[in-house]
Amino acid sequence: MNAEGDRNPRAVSLDELTELCVRRGFFYPTGKIYGGLSGFYDYGPLGVDLMRNILNDWWWFFVEKREDIYGIYGSIITHPRTWEASGHVESFIDYIVTCKRCGAEYRADHLLEDLGIKVVDYSIESLKKLIHENNIRCPLCGGELTDPRTFNLMFATALGPKKDPPFTVYLRPETAQLIFVNFKNIVFTMGATLPFGIAQYGKAFRNEISPRNFLFRLREFIQMEIEYFVNPRKLDECPYFDSIRHLKINLLTAEDQEKGTDSAKKITIGDAVQNGLIGSKWHAYWIAESLKWLWRIGLSPDNLRVREHVKTELAHYAVQTFDIEYYFPFMGWKEIEGISNRGDYDLRRHQEFSGESLHIVDGDEKVIPYVIEPSFGLERVILALLTEAYVKEEKRVYLKIKPSIAPFKAAIFPLVKRDNIDVLAREIYEELREHIRVYYDEDGSIGKRYAKADEVGVPYCITVDGQSLEDGTVTVRYRDTRQQERVHREKLLEFLSLKTRP
Ligand code: AMP
Repeated sequence: MNAEGDRNPRAVSLDELTELCVRRGFFYPTGKIYGGLSGFYDYGPLGVDLMRNILNDWWWFFVEKREDIYGIYGSIITHPRTWEASGHVESFIDYIVTCKRCGAEYRADHLLEDLGIKVVDYSIESLKKLIHENNIRCPLCGGELTDPRTFNLMFATALGPKKDPPFTVYLRPETAQLIFVNFKNIVFTMGATLPFGIAQYGKAFRNEISPRNFLFRLREFIQMEIEYFVNPRKLDECPYFDSIRHLKINLLTAEDQEKGTDSAKKITIGDAVQNGLIGSKWHAYWIAESLKWLWRIGLSPDNLRVREHVKTELAHYAVQTFDIEYYFPFMGWKEIEGISNRGDYDLRRHQEFSGESLHIVDGDEKVIPYVIEPSFGLERVILALLTEAYVKEEKRVYLKIKPSIAPFKAAIFPLVKRDNIDVLAREIYEELREHIRVYYDEDGSIGKRYAKADEVGVPYCITVDGQSLEDGTVTVRYRDTRQQERVHREKLLEFLSLKTRP
Protein backbone atom coordinates (compact mmCIF):
# COMPACT_ATOMS: atom_id res chain seq x y z
CA MET A 1 0.00 0.00 0.00
CA ASN A 2 2.84 2.38 0.64
CA ALA A 3 4.14 2.15 -2.90
CA GLU A 4 4.58 5.84 -3.57
CA GLY A 5 2.21 7.29 -6.09
CA ASP A 6 -0.79 4.95 -6.04
CA ARG A 7 -1.75 5.82 -2.47
CA ASN A 8 -4.03 8.68 -3.38
CA PRO A 9 -4.56 9.30 -7.08
CA ARG A 10 -6.35 12.60 -6.46
CA ALA A 11 -3.59 13.84 -4.20
CA VAL A 12 -3.00 17.53 -3.71
CA SER A 13 0.30 19.15 -4.65
CA LEU A 14 2.21 21.35 -2.26
CA ASP A 15 1.68 24.33 -4.57
CA GLU A 16 -2.09 23.86 -4.60
CA LEU A 17 -2.18 23.62 -0.84
CA THR A 18 0.04 26.63 -0.30
CA GLU A 19 -1.98 28.69 -2.76
CA LEU A 20 -5.27 27.81 -1.07
CA CYS A 21 -3.89 28.50 2.41
CA VAL A 22 -2.57 31.93 1.44
CA ARG A 23 -5.58 32.93 -0.68
CA ARG A 24 -8.16 31.92 1.90
CA GLY A 25 -6.39 33.29 4.98
CA PHE A 26 -4.93 30.27 6.70
CA PHE A 27 -1.30 31.39 6.53
CA TYR A 28 0.62 34.35 5.15
CA PRO A 29 4.37 34.44 4.52
CA THR A 30 5.59 36.81 7.21
CA GLY A 31 6.72 40.30 6.21
CA LYS A 32 5.46 39.76 2.69
CA ILE A 33 5.29 43.48 1.90
CA TYR A 34 9.06 43.52 2.46
CA GLY A 35 9.69 40.40 0.42
CA GLY A 36 8.98 37.76 3.10
CA LEU A 37 11.34 35.89 5.39
CA SER A 38 12.13 32.28 4.67
CA GLY A 39 10.92 29.79 7.29
CA PHE A 40 8.37 32.08 8.97
CA TYR A 41 4.62 32.25 8.45
CA ASP A 42 1.90 34.28 10.13
CA TYR A 43 -1.34 32.53 10.96
CA GLY A 44 -4.31 34.19 9.26
CA PRO A 45 -7.90 34.22 10.59
CA LEU A 46 -8.72 30.71 9.35
CA GLY A 47 -5.35 29.33 10.45
CA VAL A 48 -5.57 30.70 13.95
CA ASP A 49 -8.98 29.12 14.55
CA LEU A 50 -7.71 25.82 13.16
CA MET A 51 -4.64 26.09 15.40
CA ARG A 52 -6.74 26.79 18.51
CA ASN A 53 -9.07 23.87 17.80
CA ILE A 54 -6.14 21.49 17.45
CA LEU A 55 -4.36 22.81 20.52
CA ASN A 56 -7.53 22.63 22.59
CA ASP A 57 -8.19 19.09 21.49
CA TRP A 58 -4.61 18.07 22.22
CA TRP A 59 -4.80 19.68 25.66
CA TRP A 60 -8.10 17.98 26.37
CA PHE A 61 -6.87 14.55 25.22
CA PHE A 62 -3.47 14.60 26.90
CA VAL A 63 -4.03 16.84 29.94
CA GLU A 64 -7.61 17.60 30.94
CA LYS A 65 -9.06 14.13 30.69
CA ARG A 66 -6.18 12.53 32.59
CA GLU A 67 -5.18 12.69 36.21
CA ASP A 68 -1.49 11.96 35.73
CA ILE A 69 -0.44 14.89 33.52
CA TYR A 70 0.22 18.45 34.68
CA GLY A 71 0.28 21.41 32.32
CA ILE A 72 2.83 24.23 32.29
CA TYR A 73 3.53 27.17 30.00
CA GLY A 74 7.26 27.92 30.10
CA SER A 75 9.30 30.95 29.08
CA ILE A 76 10.68 31.20 25.60
CA ILE A 77 13.93 32.61 26.97
CA THR A 78 15.24 30.87 30.04
CA HIS A 79 18.54 30.62 31.90
CA PRO A 80 21.23 29.83 29.29
CA ARG A 81 22.82 27.15 31.48
CA THR A 82 19.72 25.12 30.61
CA TRP A 83 21.01 24.74 27.07
CA GLU A 84 24.52 23.86 28.19
CA ALA A 85 23.12 21.12 30.42
CA SER A 86 20.77 19.81 27.74
CA GLY A 87 23.61 19.52 25.24
CA HIS A 88 22.15 22.01 22.78
CA VAL A 89 25.06 24.48 22.95
CA GLU A 90 27.44 21.70 22.03
CA SER A 91 25.40 19.29 19.94
CA PHE A 92 22.36 20.97 18.41
CA ILE A 93 24.02 21.25 15.04
CA ASP A 94 23.61 20.52 11.40
CA TYR A 95 26.37 20.35 8.80
CA ILE A 96 26.64 23.10 6.27
CA VAL A 97 28.57 23.39 3.01
CA THR A 98 29.22 26.63 1.14
CA CYS A 99 29.84 27.20 -2.54
CA LYS A 100 33.35 28.61 -2.98
CA ARG A 101 32.25 30.50 -6.08
CA CYS A 102 28.78 32.01 -5.40
CA GLY A 103 28.60 31.73 -1.61
CA ALA A 104 25.32 29.71 -1.59
CA GLU A 105 24.93 27.64 1.57
CA TYR A 106 23.38 24.19 1.88
CA ARG A 107 22.56 21.73 4.59
CA ALA A 108 24.86 18.89 3.59
CA ASP A 109 22.44 15.98 4.13
CA HIS A 110 19.59 17.79 2.36
CA LEU A 111 21.78 18.63 -0.60
CA LEU A 112 22.76 14.97 -1.00
CA GLU A 113 19.20 13.73 -0.55
CA ASP A 114 17.87 16.28 -3.06
CA LEU A 115 20.30 14.82 -5.57
CA GLY A 116 18.96 11.34 -4.92
CA ILE A 117 21.85 10.16 -2.75
CA LYS A 118 20.68 8.21 0.28
CA VAL A 119 22.26 9.31 3.55
CA VAL A 120 22.38 6.63 6.21
CA ASP A 121 25.19 7.93 8.39
CA TYR A 122 24.77 11.61 9.25
CA SER A 123 28.28 12.08 10.72
CA ILE A 124 30.53 14.82 9.34
CA GLU A 125 33.05 12.27 7.99
CA SER A 126 30.39 10.32 6.15
CA LEU A 127 28.82 13.46 4.62
CA LYS A 128 32.25 14.66 3.50
CA LYS A 129 32.96 11.29 1.92
CA LEU A 130 29.62 11.23 0.07
CA ILE A 131 30.17 14.75 -1.28
CA HIS A 132 33.65 13.85 -2.57
CA GLU A 133 32.75 10.41 -3.90
CA ASN A 134 29.79 11.78 -5.85
CA ASN A 135 31.67 14.88 -6.93
CA ILE A 136 28.84 17.11 -5.70
CA ARG A 137 29.01 20.72 -6.85
CA CYS A 138 26.88 23.80 -6.24
CA PRO A 139 23.45 23.20 -7.85
CA LEU A 140 23.19 26.93 -8.62
CA CYS A 141 26.51 27.71 -10.32
CA GLY A 142 28.43 24.44 -10.50
CA GLY A 143 31.12 25.82 -8.19
CA GLU A 144 33.24 23.74 -5.84
CA LEU A 145 31.88 23.21 -2.31
CA THR A 146 33.70 23.57 1.01
CA ASP A 147 33.98 20.59 3.36
CA PRO A 148 31.01 20.30 5.73
CA ARG A 149 31.30 22.28 8.96
CA THR A 150 29.09 22.53 12.02
CA PHE A 151 26.33 25.09 12.36
CA ASN A 152 24.43 25.53 15.66
CA LEU A 153 20.70 25.87 15.12
CA MET A 154 19.90 27.96 18.18
CA PHE A 155 18.99 31.63 17.78
CA ALA A 156 21.10 33.62 20.24
CA THR A 157 20.39 37.11 21.47
CA ALA A 158 21.81 39.44 24.11
CA LEU A 159 19.98 39.98 27.37
CA GLY A 160 19.96 43.53 28.78
CA PRO A 161 22.32 46.33 27.81
CA LYS A 162 25.62 44.68 28.79
CA LYS A 163 27.91 44.64 25.77
CA ASP A 164 31.36 43.56 26.80
CA PRO A 165 30.89 40.64 26.99
CA PRO A 166 27.15 40.39 26.28
CA PHE A 167 24.95 38.10 28.32
CA THR A 168 23.98 35.57 25.65
CA VAL A 169 20.62 33.86 25.90
CA TYR A 170 18.76 31.65 23.44
CA LEU A 171 15.28 31.39 22.01
CA ARG A 172 14.30 27.89 23.10
CA PRO A 173 14.89 25.30 20.36
CA GLU A 174 12.42 22.91 22.00
CA THR A 175 9.84 23.24 24.74
CA ALA A 176 11.00 20.04 26.48
CA GLN A 177 13.79 21.58 28.57
CA LEU A 178 11.37 23.97 30.26
CA ILE A 179 9.61 20.88 31.52
CA PHE A 180 12.77 19.27 32.88
CA VAL A 181 13.82 22.40 34.75
CA ASN A 182 10.33 22.58 36.28
CA PHE A 183 10.30 18.92 37.30
CA LYS A 184 11.00 19.68 40.96
CA ASN A 185 8.42 22.47 41.05
CA ILE A 186 5.71 20.08 39.92
CA VAL A 187 6.78 17.43 42.42
CA PHE A 188 6.78 19.91 45.30
CA THR A 189 3.81 22.13 44.45
CA MET A 190 1.47 19.53 42.98
CA GLY A 191 2.53 16.51 45.01
CA ALA A 192 3.16 14.52 41.83
CA THR A 193 4.22 10.91 42.29
CA LEU A 194 5.60 8.49 39.69
CA PRO A 195 4.51 7.79 37.06
CA PHE A 196 3.36 11.21 35.91
CA GLY A 197 3.81 13.60 33.04
CA ILE A 198 4.18 17.30 32.34
CA ALA A 199 2.79 18.80 29.14
CA GLN A 200 3.09 22.09 27.39
CA TYR A 201 2.72 23.66 24.01
CA GLY A 202 4.38 26.76 22.71
CA LYS A 203 6.81 28.28 20.27
CA ALA A 204 10.18 26.77 19.45
CA PHE A 205 12.86 28.36 17.28
CA ARG A 206 15.47 26.72 15.09
CA ASN A 207 17.75 28.50 12.70
CA GLU A 208 17.22 25.90 9.98
CA ILE A 209 19.73 26.14 7.15
CA SER A 210 17.18 25.30 4.50
CA PRO A 211 13.58 25.94 5.58
CA ARG A 212 11.29 24.44 2.97
CA ASN A 213 8.04 22.82 1.98
CA PHE A 214 5.64 25.48 3.26
CA LEU A 215 4.82 24.58 6.89
CA PHE A 216 7.04 21.53 7.05
CA ARG A 217 10.43 22.98 7.92
CA LEU A 218 10.09 26.32 9.67
CA ARG A 219 12.38 28.47 11.75
CA GLU A 220 9.64 29.36 14.20
CA PHE A 221 6.98 26.76 15.02
CA ILE A 222 4.79 25.41 17.77
CA GLN A 223 5.57 22.22 19.62
CA MET A 224 3.18 20.21 21.76
CA GLU A 225 5.23 18.08 24.12
CA ILE A 226 4.82 15.74 27.03
CA GLU A 227 7.57 14.40 29.25
CA TYR A 228 6.29 11.32 31.03
CA PHE A 229 8.39 10.29 34.04
CA VAL A 230 8.66 6.64 35.02
CA ASN A 231 10.74 4.71 37.53
CA PRO A 232 13.47 3.13 35.33
CA ARG A 233 12.78 -0.27 36.89
CA LYS A 234 9.07 0.03 36.05
CA LEU A 235 9.15 0.79 32.34
CA ASP A 236 7.02 -2.30 31.78
CA GLU A 237 4.53 -1.54 34.53
CA CYS A 238 1.97 0.37 32.53
CA PRO A 239 -1.52 -0.04 34.01
CA TYR A 240 -3.19 1.05 30.76
CA PHE A 241 -1.37 -1.41 28.54
CA ASP A 242 -4.30 -3.79 28.15
CA SER A 243 -6.40 -1.01 26.65
CA ILE A 244 -3.97 -0.59 23.74
CA ARG A 245 -2.27 -3.96 23.25
CA HIS A 246 -4.60 -4.99 20.41
CA LEU A 247 -4.14 -1.81 18.47
CA LYS A 248 -2.60 -2.41 15.04
CA ILE A 249 0.17 -0.12 13.87
CA ASN A 250 2.35 0.17 10.76
CA LEU A 251 5.84 -0.38 12.16
CA LEU A 252 9.17 0.08 10.37
CA THR A 253 11.97 -1.12 12.61
CA ALA A 254 15.60 0.01 12.59
CA GLU A 255 16.62 -3.54 11.76
CA ASP A 256 14.39 -3.64 8.67
CA GLN A 257 15.78 -0.32 7.50
CA GLU A 258 19.32 -1.52 8.01
CA LYS A 259 18.42 -4.44 5.74
CA GLY A 260 17.28 -1.95 3.10
CA THR A 261 13.51 -2.20 3.61
CA ASP A 262 11.37 0.89 3.47
CA SER A 263 7.95 -0.62 4.02
CA ALA A 264 6.30 -0.96 7.36
CA LYS A 265 4.64 -4.11 8.62
CA LYS A 266 1.29 -4.28 10.39
CA ILE A 267 1.66 -5.51 13.93
CA THR A 268 -0.22 -5.14 17.18
CA ILE A 269 1.31 -3.06 19.93
CA GLY A 270 1.25 -6.15 22.15
CA ASP A 271 3.29 -8.19 19.66
CA ALA A 272 5.69 -5.32 19.02
CA VAL A 273 6.52 -5.21 22.74
CA GLN A 274 6.61 -8.97 23.14
CA ASN A 275 9.02 -9.33 20.21
CA GLY A 276 11.27 -6.63 21.65
CA LEU A 277 10.65 -4.21 18.77
CA ILE A 278 9.42 -1.47 21.10
CA GLY A 279 11.66 -1.36 24.16
CA SER A 280 9.04 -1.00 26.90
CA LYS A 281 5.33 -0.96 27.60
CA TRP A 282 5.31 2.70 28.59
CA HIS A 283 7.02 3.64 25.34
CA ALA A 284 4.49 1.55 23.41
CA TYR A 285 1.62 3.10 25.33
CA TRP A 286 2.65 6.61 24.33
CA ILE A 287 3.01 5.57 20.71
CA ALA A 288 -0.54 4.20 20.89
CA GLU A 289 -1.99 7.29 22.58
CA SER A 290 -0.30 9.52 20.01
CA LEU A 291 -1.77 7.52 17.14
CA LYS A 292 -5.19 7.52 18.77
CA TRP A 293 -5.10 11.30 18.94
CA LEU A 294 -3.90 11.67 15.35
CA TRP A 295 -6.69 9.36 14.15
CA ARG A 296 -9.18 11.23 16.29
CA ILE A 297 -8.42 14.58 14.68
CA GLY A 298 -8.82 13.10 11.22
CA LEU A 299 -5.63 11.46 9.91
CA SER A 300 -6.15 8.08 8.31
CA PRO A 301 -4.35 5.09 9.90
CA ASP A 302 -3.13 4.02 6.44
CA ASN A 303 -1.29 7.29 6.03
CA LEU A 304 0.57 6.99 9.32
CA ARG A 305 3.47 4.76 10.21
CA VAL A 306 5.82 4.36 13.16
CA ARG A 307 9.46 4.38 12.11
CA GLU A 308 12.27 3.59 14.50
CA HIS A 309 15.41 5.71 14.33
CA VAL A 310 18.42 3.83 13.06
CA LYS A 311 21.54 4.04 15.24
CA THR A 312 23.21 6.77 13.23
CA GLU A 313 20.26 9.17 13.51
CA LEU A 314 19.59 8.68 17.23
CA ALA A 315 19.96 11.92 19.20
CA HIS A 316 22.70 12.11 21.85
CA TYR A 317 20.14 11.70 24.66
CA ALA A 318 18.01 8.93 23.23
CA VAL A 319 17.75 5.28 24.30
CA GLN A 320 15.21 4.50 21.55
CA THR A 321 13.20 6.82 19.30
CA PHE A 322 10.25 6.34 16.99
CA ASP A 323 8.94 8.92 14.58
CA ILE A 324 5.32 8.99 13.61
CA GLU A 325 5.44 9.68 9.92
CA TYR A 326 2.66 10.84 7.65
CA TYR A 327 2.53 10.01 3.96
CA PHE A 328 2.56 13.34 2.10
CA PRO A 329 1.91 12.68 -1.60
CA PHE A 330 4.32 15.49 -2.50
CA MET A 331 7.19 14.49 -0.16
CA GLY A 332 6.69 10.86 0.81
CA TRP A 333 6.86 9.69 4.44
CA LYS A 334 7.84 12.51 6.80
CA GLU A 335 8.03 12.93 10.57
CA ILE A 336 5.19 14.77 12.25
CA GLU A 337 5.92 13.55 15.77
CA GLY A 338 8.88 12.04 17.60
CA ILE A 339 8.43 9.69 20.57
CA SER A 340 11.69 9.17 22.40
CA ASN A 341 12.81 7.30 25.42
CA ARG A 342 15.28 9.92 26.67
CA GLY A 343 16.41 7.81 29.61
CA ASP A 344 17.46 9.90 32.60
CA TYR A 345 19.81 12.02 30.48
CA ASP A 346 18.08 15.37 30.93
CA LEU A 347 17.35 15.22 34.65
CA ARG A 348 20.85 13.92 35.38
CA ARG A 349 22.46 16.68 33.35
CA HIS A 350 20.34 19.38 35.02
CA GLN A 351 21.22 17.90 38.39
CA GLU A 352 24.89 18.01 37.51
CA PHE A 353 24.84 21.54 36.09
CA SER A 354 22.58 23.11 38.75
CA GLY A 355 23.78 21.22 41.80
CA GLU A 356 20.13 20.62 42.80
CA SER A 357 18.97 17.10 43.51
CA LEU A 358 16.43 15.95 40.95
CA HIS A 359 15.63 12.63 42.57
CA ILE A 360 12.11 11.63 43.44
CA VAL A 361 10.99 9.14 46.05
CA ASP A 362 9.05 6.19 44.62
CA GLY A 363 7.92 3.78 47.34
CA ASP A 364 11.08 3.15 49.33
CA GLU A 365 13.38 4.02 46.46
CA LYS A 366 15.04 7.30 45.51
CA VAL A 367 15.27 7.46 41.71
CA ILE A 368 15.99 9.72 38.83
CA PRO A 369 13.13 8.81 36.51
CA TYR A 370 13.35 7.82 32.89
CA VAL A 371 11.30 9.87 30.52
CA ILE A 372 9.18 9.03 27.49
CA GLU A 373 8.64 12.07 25.29
CA PRO A 374 5.86 12.38 22.72
CA SER A 375 6.75 15.54 20.80
CA PHE A 376 4.42 16.89 18.10
CA GLY A 377 5.01 19.81 15.76
CA LEU A 378 1.74 21.67 15.34
CA GLU A 379 2.40 23.02 11.85
CA ARG A 380 3.36 19.56 10.62
CA VAL A 381 0.13 18.20 12.05
CA ILE A 382 -1.74 21.01 10.28
CA LEU A 383 0.05 20.30 7.01
CA ALA A 384 -0.90 16.63 7.30
CA LEU A 385 -4.51 17.47 8.16
CA LEU A 386 -4.86 19.85 5.22
CA THR A 387 -3.24 17.32 2.90
CA GLU A 388 -5.64 14.64 4.07
CA ALA A 389 -8.65 16.96 3.91
CA TYR A 390 -8.09 18.42 0.46
CA VAL A 391 -10.62 16.96 -1.99
CA LYS A 392 -10.66 17.97 -5.63
CA GLU A 393 -13.87 17.18 -7.49
CA GLU A 394 -14.72 18.04 -11.03
CA LYS A 395 -16.51 21.24 -10.08
CA ARG A 396 -15.18 22.14 -6.68
CA VAL A 397 -12.44 21.88 -4.09
CA TYR A 398 -13.35 21.30 -0.49
CA LEU A 399 -11.55 20.62 2.75
CA LYS A 400 -12.98 17.58 4.45
CA ILE A 401 -11.90 18.62 7.93
CA LYS A 402 -13.58 17.03 10.92
CA PRO A 403 -16.31 19.41 12.07
CA SER A 404 -14.86 19.63 15.59
CA ILE A 405 -11.51 20.80 14.19
CA ALA A 406 -12.83 22.96 11.33
CA PRO A 407 -12.25 26.70 11.87
CA PHE A 408 -15.92 27.57 11.27
CA LYS A 409 -18.74 25.19 12.14
CA ALA A 410 -21.33 26.85 9.94
CA ALA A 411 -21.95 29.74 7.56
CA ILE A 412 -25.26 31.57 7.38
CA PHE A 413 -26.50 32.90 4.06
CA PRO A 414 -29.66 34.77 3.08
CA LEU A 415 -30.74 33.37 -0.30
CA VAL A 416 -31.35 36.94 -1.45
CA LYS A 417 -30.60 40.30 0.13
CA ARG A 418 -34.19 41.55 0.29
CA ASP A 419 -37.78 40.87 1.42
CA ASN A 420 -36.59 40.62 5.05
CA ILE A 421 -34.79 37.37 4.23
CA ASP A 422 -31.45 39.02 5.05
CA VAL A 423 -32.91 40.44 8.27
CA LEU A 424 -33.97 36.98 9.43
CA ALA A 425 -30.63 35.45 8.35
CA ARG A 426 -28.72 38.01 10.39
CA GLU A 427 -30.95 37.39 13.35
CA ILE A 428 -30.23 33.67 13.19
CA TYR A 429 -26.51 34.40 12.81
CA GLU A 430 -26.52 36.68 15.83
CA GLU A 431 -28.22 34.03 17.93
CA LEU A 432 -25.85 31.29 16.85
CA ARG A 433 -22.60 33.23 17.18
CA GLU A 434 -23.15 33.55 20.92
CA HIS A 435 -22.57 29.81 21.16
CA ILE A 436 -20.72 28.46 18.16
CA ARG A 437 -18.11 29.66 15.64
CA VAL A 438 -20.09 30.79 12.59
CA TYR A 439 -19.92 33.53 9.98
CA TYR A 440 -22.41 35.48 7.92
CA ASP A 441 -22.08 36.01 4.17
CA GLU A 442 -24.54 37.76 1.89
CA ASP A 443 -22.23 38.68 -1.01
CA GLY A 444 -22.37 37.13 -4.46
CA SER A 445 -24.38 34.20 -5.76
CA ILE A 446 -25.30 31.39 -3.41
CA GLY A 447 -23.12 29.05 -5.47
CA LYS A 448 -20.07 31.25 -4.93
CA ARG A 449 -20.78 31.42 -1.21
CA TYR A 450 -20.99 27.62 -1.02
CA ALA A 451 -17.74 27.31 -2.96
CA LYS A 452 -15.95 29.69 -0.59
CA ALA A 453 -17.27 27.83 2.45
CA ASP A 454 -16.23 24.47 0.97
CA GLU A 455 -12.70 25.69 0.39
CA VAL A 456 -12.20 26.53 4.06
CA GLY A 457 -13.88 23.37 5.28
CA VAL A 458 -17.14 24.78 6.68
CA PRO A 459 -19.12 21.60 7.40
CA TYR A 460 -22.62 23.13 7.33
CA CYS A 461 -24.05 26.00 5.29
CA ILE A 462 -27.37 27.40 6.45
CA THR A 463 -29.50 29.18 3.91
CA VAL A 464 -32.46 31.35 4.82
CA ASP A 465 -35.12 31.71 2.10
CA GLY A 466 -38.74 32.72 1.55
CA GLN A 467 -40.05 29.60 3.23
CA SER A 468 -38.04 30.46 6.35
CA LEU A 469 -40.19 33.58 6.82
CA GLU A 470 -43.31 31.44 6.67
CA ASP A 471 -42.48 28.34 8.69
CA GLY A 472 -39.21 29.14 10.51
CA THR A 473 -37.20 26.39 8.74
CA VAL A 474 -33.87 26.88 6.96
CA THR A 475 -31.88 24.61 4.67
CA VAL A 476 -28.76 22.99 6.02
CA ARG A 477 -26.33 21.88 3.34
CA TYR A 478 -23.74 19.22 4.15
CA ARG A 479 -20.25 20.05 2.87
CA ASP A 480 -19.15 16.53 1.94
CA THR A 481 -22.30 15.24 0.24
CA ARG A 482 -23.89 18.56 -0.75
CA GLN A 483 -27.20 17.12 0.44
CA GLN A 484 -29.66 19.48 2.01
CA GLU A 485 -32.30 19.17 4.66
CA ARG A 486 -34.66 21.59 6.33
CA VAL A 487 -34.22 22.25 10.03
CA HIS A 488 -36.31 24.54 12.20
CA ARG A 489 -34.32 27.56 13.36
CA GLU A 490 -35.13 26.72 16.97
CA LYS A 491 -33.40 23.35 16.53
CA LEU A 492 -30.34 24.77 14.76
CA LEU A 493 -28.10 25.25 17.75
CA GLU A 494 -28.78 21.76 19.04
CA PHE A 495 -28.28 20.33 15.54
CA LEU A 496 -24.93 22.10 15.07
CA SER A 497 -23.71 21.37 18.58
CA LEU A 498 -24.35 17.67 18.17
CA LYS A 499 -22.82 17.49 14.71
CA THR A 500 -19.69 19.45 15.48
CA ARG A 501 -18.67 18.16 18.87
CA PRO A 502 -15.47 16.08 19.01
P1 AMP B 1 12.53 17.06 17.37
O1 AMP B 1 12.83 17.70 18.70
O2 AMP B 1 13.48 17.45 16.29
O3 AMP B 1 12.27 15.58 17.47
O4 AMP B 1 11.15 17.71 16.91
C1 AMP B 1 9.93 17.36 17.49
C2 AMP B 1 8.83 17.73 16.54
O5 AMP B 1 8.87 19.14 16.28
C3 AMP B 1 8.96 17.09 15.17
O6 AMP B 1 8.31 15.84 15.14
C4 AMP B 1 8.27 18.07 14.27
O7 AMP B 1 6.88 17.84 14.23
C5 AMP B 1 8.52 19.41 14.93
N1 AMP B 1 9.61 20.13 14.25
C6 AMP B 1 10.92 19.98 14.42
N2 AMP B 1 11.62 20.82 13.64
C7 AMP B 1 10.70 21.53 12.95
C8 AMP B 1 10.79 22.56 11.97
N3 AMP B 1 11.97 23.06 11.58
N4 AMP B 1 9.64 23.07 11.47
C9 AMP B 1 8.44 22.59 11.87
N5 AMP B 1 8.31 21.62 12.79
C10 AMP B 1 9.42 21.10 13.33
